[in-house]
Amino acid sequence: MIVVLKSNVEQSQIDWLSEKLTARGLELHSISGEERTVLALVGTNLPDPREIQLMPGVARVMRVSKPYKLASREASDETSKIPLRPNGPIVGGSQVVVMAGPCSIEGREKFLEIAAMVKKAGAGVIRGGAFKPRTSPYSFQGMGEEGLKILQEAGQMYDMATVTEVMSPRQVELVNKYADVLQVGTRNMQNFELLKEVGMQDKPVLLKRGLSATIDELLMSAEYILAGPGNAQVILCERGIRTFESSTRNTLDLSAIPVLRKLTHLPILVDPSHGTGVRTYVASMAMAAVAAGADALMIECHQNPPEAFSDGAQSLYPEQLERLMKDLSVIAPVVGKQMEGLHRRRVTNVGKAPDKGQETVGLQGLSGSFSEKAIHQYFGTETPTQSYETFGQLFDALSAGDIAYAMVPVENSLTGSIHVNYDLLLEHEELTIVGELKVRIQHNLVANAGVDINDIETIFSHPQAAAQCDVFLRSNLNWKVVNMYDTAGSAEHIVKNSLVRSAAISSLAAAERRGLKVLKEGIESNPHNFTRFLVVTQKSQTDKLEQNPDKASVVFDTADSPGALYKALECFSQNSINLKKLESRPIAGKPWEYMFYLDLEIPEEIQVLDDALEELSKQAPYFRELGRYKSAP
Ligand code: PEP
Ligand code: MN
Repeated sequence: MIVVLKSNVEQSQIDWLSEKLTARGLELHSISGEERTVLALVGTNLPDPREIQLMPGVARVMRVSKPYKLASREASDETSKIPLRPNGPIVGGSQVVVMAGPCSIEGREKFLEIAAMVKKAGAGVIRGGAFKPRTSPYSFQGMGEEGLKILQEAGQMYDMATVTEVMSPRQVELVNKYADVLQVGTRNMQNFELLKEVGMQDKPVLLKRGLSATIDELLMSAEYILAGPGNAQVILCERGIRTFESSTRNTLDLSAIPVLRKLTHLPILVDPSHGTGVRTYVASMAMAAVAAGADALMIECHQNPPEAFSDGAQSLYPEQLERLMKDLSVIAPVVGKQMEGLHRRRVTNVGKAPDKGQETVGLQGLSGSFSEKAIHQYFGTETPTQSYETFGQLFDALSAGDIAYAMVPVENSLTGSIHVNYDLLLEHEELTIVGELKVRIQHNLVANAGVDINDIETIFSHPQAAAQCDVFLRSNLNWKVVNMYDTAGSAEHIVKNSLVRSAAISSLAAAERRGLKVLKEGIESNPHNFTRFLVVTQKSQTDKLEQNPDKASVVFDTADSPGALYKALECFSQNSINLKKLESRPIAGKPWEYMFYLDLEIPEEIQVLDDALEELSKQAPYFRELGRYKSAP
């Protein structure tokens, strides 16, 4: 039975409720999401739900129809977010986490070399088996505790979380001592004693689907772990099942991803290495898994796969892993995600207490806005945020040091530049760009429950969003479109005022958070709808500047004379510097004169760029560098 608590419930009320319910001999598990907390009650003698419904702090009571109670989607409609270790990658959020490494740990030097390669490719988790479940008792069985020590050393050396397999209840204590994530292998999916033992640990468990297990059986095994007193952190793994097909080692069941998404709140990892058993098939299945919504991937790799002690045929070469990570970073934004660890600056305060605002990232708009999504993609979902009503206020707060960064949209692939932010970048000379990312934008027509699309007379929207949904909005000329300051704000407006003849254009996240119904999904005129964001900070915060930039932005003006722009740009052509974007904006107070905003690729030799910019600054009446940063894929 699931008891959904009210969103404003206080901890003291939760404690009181828990006490009352456990006193009746019920077993209680608390599942806290970002938006709400639920208590799952298990036991043979469940009380009448109507009685619990009347208790203070309770919003709703539901009976769970599935045999897996704690794992079921009914227990939580948010996907569980599982941090692999403090300040480490989080599986189940907006970032796709990659766990990579060899099948088995073969020796210290070799493993540290692979760890360096995994880190370089941008994966956040290193894997490697120390206890190996081999089909033949004569095959290499793993290095045991010595291997675990090597795994831990590699994780510490390269600041990566670690995952390794534990094969028997007897090994749990030992593996727990060294690894961040405990892997239960395919052959052990129904080793119930092992499941109970890992269920007692306070460590995330990666549970692999059995060779011939159904999805329901996988979920029942997860339930064993969740039912334990210590562990609410299970990541489910699809790694291929046994079918009649023999061209691949196993048949990777990619449809398990949407099926599991529907049945459970637990995050989903896909292992295309064991799923196919063939190196050349791994990348396409990894990309398909991300496209299908996987939260994480496990990829085997090796510096010299033909000589690997185990699973060499399915292990990627270093350059294949790097290439795959780059390809994945292009695919992930299409499904609203970002690759963890790539193109991302993590906000951390290692070893010192954060000052007020030191970690906070500012945005224009409310929670559920696309700027918030951009912050989650770039900095992670745990990053504190601060909302401002206008972009002007956002820039002022950054200048005043109230926030550490601002997430600023500058360009949309359908409607072009967001000019106000170009003007603000020009105005604030003390600020600089340190990062860039692209976010897929999907708009939806949303309304209060019970409202029908035919009831709609007015649609509230941010003007940018309305422009991106132009074709849809023109399909009914009776609709009156009213501008609001952001998309999440439009959703908020119709909820607050209980409007029944109105709808809003918003993201799914903004609608879900406010309990709104989606009348029509994906109403943007073109699905290739991306917004480019810039991450802006104070120039004086030198520790926040990008160390390996590949893109720069500058702003300049030219004399009002023939060939002036041509001459200004000549220095780039002469130095073979590739220009990415040139945009002109009117100069306030000087009618018909323009500022030019230029984005360019940084050449290998940074001096070449410095010389070209020096040249430009000599000619231009006004010149300023807006920042150097890593370009978004
Ligand atoms: C492994 O991850 O190396 C492994 C043995 O996987 P599975 O349990 O999926 O065969
Ligand atoms: Mn393997």
